[in-house]
Amino acid sequence: MPIEKNSPPVPALCPDCDLLLTSIDPPPGHTVRCPRCGRRLHKWKVHSIEKTLAISLTGLLLYIPANFMPLLTFDILGLNSSSSLFDSTLTMFQQGQDAVGIMVILSGFIFPLLILSLLLAVSSGLYFNRPTSWMSRLLRWYHHLAEWAMTDVYLIGVFVTIIKMSHMAEIEFNTGFFCFVGVVLATIAAQSTMDHHLFWSRLESTKTPPLPVDSSAETGAEAGLCLCPTCEKTLPLSPGREQNCPRCGQHLHLRKKDSLSRTWALILTAIILTLPANLLPIMEVEYFGVPDRSTIMDGIIYFFQEGSYGIGAIILTASILVPLFKIVGMILILLTIHFHWPGWLRHKALMFRFIEFIGRWSMLDIFVIALLCALVRFGFLSTINVAPAAFYFTGVVLCTMFAAINFDPRLLWDAGNSSPPKDVPDATTCS
Ligand SMILES: [Zn+2]
Ligand SMILES: [Zn+2]
Repeated sequence: MPIEKNSPPVPALCPDCDLLLTSIDPPPGHTVRCPRCGRRLHKWKVHSIEKTLAISLTGLLLYIPANFMPLLTFDILGLNSSSSLFDSTLTMFQQGQDAVGIMVILSGFIFPLLILSLLLAVSSGLYFNRPTSWMSRLLRWYHHLAEWAMTDVYLIGVFVTIIKMSHMAEIEFNTGFFCFVGVVLATIAAQSTMDHHLFWSRLESTKTPPLPVDSSAETGAEAGLCLCPTCEKTLPLSPGREQNCPRCGQHLHLRKKDSLSRTWALILTAIILTLPANLLPIMEVEYFGVPDRSTIMDGIIYFFQEGSYGIGAIILTASILVPLFKIVGMILILLTIHFHWPGWLRHKALMFRFIEFIGRWSMLDIFVIALLCALVRFGFLSTINVAPAAFYFTGVVLCTMFAAINFDPRLLWDAGNSSPPKDVPDATTCS
């Protein structure tokens, strides 16, 4: 369906390819995509503020029992061992892996609490029609933290742990487990019902008049416009002057500063860390006092030998294939920019969005180990401890995630000699 032509056109920029568009306001029930790179620019969401308020409040009510009540109880030969989710986040500290522990406690405990609280604060302010300046700051924090809250990855980790232990122990599901499933569903639902454009436009105290569009310009850079990376407001950029977004306060740049050198440095660090992460043992299982150390690949082979092909494939994908794909994919994109390769830009842009999306799922194995260490504590009979590779593996995950954050996908189109449409196009609208 075409965009209504009666409303005055508001120039907008695609965050991924910098294409200048006349408007990205979709009719109700429709989604807008960039005609050049295919990125989704805006999706209309019904009753976004009310739904976000209700769902984030539900998530917060379930949060305390989900984290502090017992999650699972394992029973081996009449011996019981149970643990709450919070205990499992602390296990890494107890075993001397403080750096891994910090990552687990931030991504599994603190950031999920923060993003639900931030969504509740902003949506309730908008629902009661009391938008204030500090709410913009809260929403900005939400945008920076959203991908670091990994309760969904943690939940898959709980399922992997259950399958891994199901043939060794009797497993009892406790109250914390059901509350945690509720928290994960509420977090996913609250994030997907939140309408980014609606929230930011409602928080804007002074509406700026529509910017004049230079019809000969094809990109924001040519038109002297830049996009705020946080609230996605299109703004005129004054060369040589430090500028902050008037809507959210984010520092503005035409392109992310030192993007290529930072991305290269992080990817090369990830490659170096991949070696100890895969060659050293990541977990130590003690049976009757005899330690048995295993690498990531040993764990995957064990699942396939036991006939748990599905779970083996999940761990293989999350721990080996995803980090490998992220590193190889980012190198291909960086080389495209350096050597000005013109082909397959749309596919490479799609690949970068996929790399951004899958980045956090590599934490799966670390969450599984944290849960196993907390839950399998049967004294002399059997205990599970974390081993040195966990530190290096967490480093690989962090480096590849920060590489994707520091990379500016518009550089791909700047260097690719692509041929965007000559007229300022409308965004593509679809149902
Ligand atoms: Zn685009
Ligand atoms: Zn902004």
